[in-house]
Amino acid sequence: MVKAEAVHKSFGASHVLKGIDLEVAPREVFCLVGPSGSGKSTFLRCINHLEKISAGRLSVDGQLVGYRQKGDKIYELKEREVAAQRRDIGMVFQRFNLFPHMTALENVTEAPVQVKGESKANAVERARKLLDRVGLRDKGDHYPAQLSGGQQQRVAIARALAMEPKLMLFDEPTSALDPELVGEVLDVMRGLAEDGMTMIVVTHEMGFAREVGDSLVFMDDGVVVESGRPREVLTDPQHERTKSFLSKVL
Ligand code: ATP
Ligand code: MG
Repeated sequence: MVKAEAVHKSFGASHVLKGIDLEVAPREVFCLVGPSGSGKSTFLRCINHLEKISAGRLSVDGQLVGYRQKGDKIYELKEREVAAQRRDIGMVFQRFNLFPHMTALENVTEAPVQVKGESKANAVERARKLLDRVGLRDKGDHYPAQLSGGQQQRVAIARALAMEPKLMLFDEPTSALDPELVGEVLDVMRGLAEDGMTMIVVTHEMGFAREVGDSLVFMDDGVVVESGRPREVLTDPQHERTKSFLSKVL
């Protein structure tokens, strides 16, 4: 579903991603961990072309992100075509980023109606199902300020799902939450995983990675240091940098 080959990203003189190679299979739950500044968010942002890679190849579902290849020529996609690619990728951030002036239900129906041109009735029907799925059936009329952080984050997940993405990216979705609210968000993510959603999850929740993850990549300073089954990497890390990081988060 996602294939990165020697992906580099620089911001001016700062070389942030230094040749990332990885592959995420359909239906896989792929956990990405690593210290602050290692490039995790930057890599996620490259996947939906919020950042442009500096070198290498990056594709989602067999299509180059932001480019089209014809023979041996590569063309940059137009903004409209990039937007179309992005529509298939849901993203959930650390901060919930809901529209504050819209109810939970309106937050979930906004993109399908505005971006996909779906009928209001259809969008509302699906939004109700999605709110139900994230355990917020009776919160549709609440504004973000009237919801807890965990509830807001679940609305944010429902909102991303409303676009029927083929891939979901999570960037530390629980790290801004009070500890007692983390579980309800992880439960929703676990449900998504069980339903077969392909997910890339940047997280410090090693329990989640161990139980739900199919693979785990440890990244440091813009490179993949170590990868494997979560249980193996977490219990028997091979590299010093992985050991040192895990000793701080476990
Ligand atoms: P954290 O765990 O703190 O979220 P991270 O692994 O997600 O860290 P990134 O946010 O990807 O790390 O940042 C990696 C490096 O890239 C950092 O040194 C950061 O300062 C730099 N960086 C990220 N975005 C930009 C930008 N738009 N311009 C310049 N430098 C950037
Ligand atoms: Mg980050």
